[in-house]
This record gives sequence, C-alpha cells and structure tokens, in this order.
Amino acid sequence: MTETTKFGGPENDLSNQKPGETTAFLSSSSNLVSSEKHTERVIVITSGKGGVGKTTTTANLGMSIARLGYRVALIDADIGLRNLDLLLGLENRVLYTAMDIVEGQCRLDQALIRDKRWKNLALLAISKNRQKYNVTRKNMQNLIDSVKELGFHFILIDCPAGIDVGFINAIAPAQEAVIVTTPEITAIRDADRVAGLLEANGIYNVKLLVNRVRPDMIQKNDMMSVRDVQEMLGIPLLGAIPEDTNVIVSTNRGEPLVLNKKLTLSGIAFENAARRLIGKQDYFIDLTSPQKGMFQKLQEFFLGED
Ligand code: ADP
Ligand code: MG
Repeated sequence: MTETTKFGGPENDLSNQKPGETTAFLSSSSNLVSSEKHTERVIVITSGKGGVGKTTTTANLGMSIARLGYRVALIDADIGLRNLDLLLGLENRVLYTAMDIVEGQCRLDQALIRDKRWKNLALLAISKNRQKYNVTRKNMQNLIDSVKELGFHFILIDCPAGIDVGFINAIAPAQEAVIVTTPEITAIRDADRVAGLLEANGIYNVKLLVNRVRPDMIQKNDMMSVRDVQEMLGIPLLGAIPEDTNVIVSTNRGEPLVLNKKLTLSGIAFENAARRLIGKQDYFIDLTSPQKGMFQKLQEFFLGED
C-alpha cells in the first residue's frame, strides 16, 4: 500500500465520540446503533441525466439515515457540479478534498467534514474542480476502504451525471445503487442505460427513486405515473418524491428538507425512502397492506390505488 492509499488515524474514529457530542437520539439506548461489527453498505446515487435530484437525494437520505442513529459518510463524487456541501450548509468547511489526499497534501480526517448538527454524518468531496481530477478507480476504491475502516454504516456516493470516467470511478466501490429519475422520457432512458451499466459492473442491488412527481399532471395524463416509470425500468421502487418548492428553499438554506420541524410532503417522502433503504419495513408504505396509514395514503397519492 502506498502512502497515498493509506488514510485515516485515530482522530477519525467516530466511535470515539464523547456522549455529550452525540445527540439525544444517538445516546438513547433504543435508537443507538451498535458500533460493534457491522457490514457497511456502499451505495452510489446515480441517474445518467443531470439535474434530476441526485445531490438532493444524497443529502436527504444521508441526513435521514444519520438521524436514525447510523454513522453515515457522504461522498461528493460530482466534480464539475460539486454542490453536496452547499445542500448540507458545509461549503465553508471544505478545505481539502480527496484529490489532496491522493496527492499527499492532507490526511483523510482533514478532508472528512463532520456535520455540526449530526456528528455521525460526514462529508468528503472528491475534487473541487475538473482540472484537478486524476482519480483512478483504484484511488476511489482505496479511499472508500479507508472511510469504511472508520466505522461508518452507510457510505453514500453522489455520482456525477453522464456515463464517462467520473461515473465509472464513482460506481467502482459501490455494491448497491439508487437510480434517481424524473418521470420524463429522457431521464428514464438515461436511467435505463445506467441500470445496464451497473449490472455490467456487477452492481445488482439497485433501487429506483422517482423525483419531481406532479400528481396534478399525472391526473391530466400530462406526466407518467410513478408506477408507469417503475414498470418501464423494472427496478424495485425505493420512493417517490413530489415536486416541491421547499426543495429549493432548503437548498438555499443549506438545510436538508428532512431537518424541517414541520415536514413537508417531500420531506416525509425522503424519510420514508431512507427507512426503506435501511430495511425498516414497518415504517414504510406497503402497497400490499390493507391498512391505510399516512404513508400508504401518500403512496396512493403517487401511484394510484390498486
Ligand atoms: P443532480 O444532482 O441530479 O444534478 P440536484 O439534486 O442538484 O440534481 O437537483 C437539481 C435541481 O432540481 C436543484 O435546483 C434542486 O433544487 C431541484 N430539485 C430537485 N428535486 C426537486 C423536487 N423534488 N422539487 C423541486 N425541485 C427539486
Ligand atoms: Mg448533483
């Protein structure tokens, strides 16, 4: 292992947090997620088409999962349009990126930024600009391995748009993927292409998130329903997020939607998708369940009743 592939140090170990540093959520035993042996999940958030909501999804899923007590690392692998830091309100704290680690300019703990609100959430940007990007698949893999060693339960990689080198590097360390699409034919076609590429690269655990859904347009037959999109792609559905101006408000504030005290429909939908992703089925919209909880009603709102 070369100097540049060995990252980290004891100061990175989030399991060393003092109890007071964590939130009440984390220190309450019922919600505490054990730091003992666990399998970390590396999930790439991808789409093919740009501007469909990958970064929004990464920020909100990451924040939701962190609030559920897991240690979460978010990796901003979108070099050209790096904005995960903005969505999380951490832009002033990005001093180093993974490129600096690869070049031997800093250690992993210097580039890994811990969220102030949820200390079990961390952000790592791969590069600040396209000119300074010569990351290889191997670099990416080593980097994620080092992040894994720090004891994170979930590592979410925000993938760049397109299917070129940035995409190939971003998917390299992942075992799972969330494909984000909008209910538009161009985005769906790109999502389908990406699904094929993921499979060709050995990523078979893939879930679909349909974003910017407009029930009013679906009703008028001006937009494909979530069910139609899901059936076209044949990928299991993780969630459906409505079009919501609050997404823009939260982006500008640097506060992911799921942090709002009064959750909006989109915030509930992201939380729901996060719970589904971690496998807490009891909280989820269950299409087959005869009970109609709030979440099922929400699902019906998007999918229509059976
Ligand atoms: P990507 O990372 O795929 O390029 P972003 O997450 O940056 O996409 O989202 C692109 C734009 O769409 C942003 O301006 C964001 O605020 C907006 N957006 C994303 N999801 C929604 C939504 N559900 N409702 C309204 N606007 C959204
Ligand atoms: Mg993005």
